[in-house]
Amino acid sequence: MIDICVNIHNKQLQGDRENLLARASSAGIAGIVLCATDLQMVEANIALCNKNETTIHPQLRTTAGVHPHDASTWSEDSSARLIQFAGNPWVCAIGECGLDYNRNFSTETQQLRAFEAQIEVARVVNKPLFVHDRDSRGEALKLLTRTTLPATVIHCFTGSEDDLRGFLEAGFYIGITGWICDQKRGAALRDLVKHIPLEKLLIETDAPFLRPQNAPMSFASDHGIAAKWKKRNEPALLAWVVQEIAKNRHASAEEISHACSTNAQLLFAFPT
Ligand SMILES: [Zn+2]
Repeated sequence: MIDICVNIHNKQLQGDRENLLARASSAGIAGIVLCATDLQMVEANIALCNKNETTIHPQLRTTAGVHPHDASTWSEDSSARLIQFAGNPWVCAIGECGLDYNRNFSTETQQLRAFEAQIEVARVVNKPLFVHDRDSRGEALKLLTRTTLPATVIHCFTGSEDDLRGFLEAGFYIGITGWICDQKRGAALRDLVKHIPLEKLLIETDAPFLRPQNAPMSFASDHGIAAKWKKRNEPALLAWVVQEIAKNRHASAEEISHACSTNAQLLFAFPT
């Protein structure tokens, strides 16, 4: 399996990174895409990918981009720096970028500016575009379909049936997180997940966020993880997302994880 979104620098995942990667490996995770949310993090992720190359841990890749929450940090030379990062062999996508009108940590104007610029960068460097869209009221789709794009991933999809139809018609990949396991918030997604063609489906933890609710709470204590982090998510819990997707598609977990692995390998150039 390949976990297409892990926020490895989040403080909840600090302290036991080596063990976390080893647990991922034991849980069948062959590859991880580290998500970058600003330019500094791209550098930190590339350093981790370099360091990891010599170990038996899952294969690491990183995105390069600026998250809508951090769009206020976007400056005139950001596009040029991203184009430069894209030449690095570990950089597998541009993003995560997009619109998040749920929290508006950056203003809508700042978010639009950074997003439009990154769409253009992905076109210039011809790398996949890694998109975060939360409550943009269809605006992200509108911007994305104005032009011809490289392969595009809507990560952590939590939208409506109309949103999904629009993204699929545009040919985009859809990333599913532990949101689907959330008893209350995940109901709509559990219903929609069967409409996603297998060849467009991707799986992700978005760790340390969105811990799958079906995963046993004893996981932390079973693995010697500090009690204060017992509610965090990590790549080793990805199989619980797969299980919930499989259940709602009346498919086997093997079928889902195999298809999603193949999709992620091709998209992010992991070794097959
Ligand atoms: Zn995101």
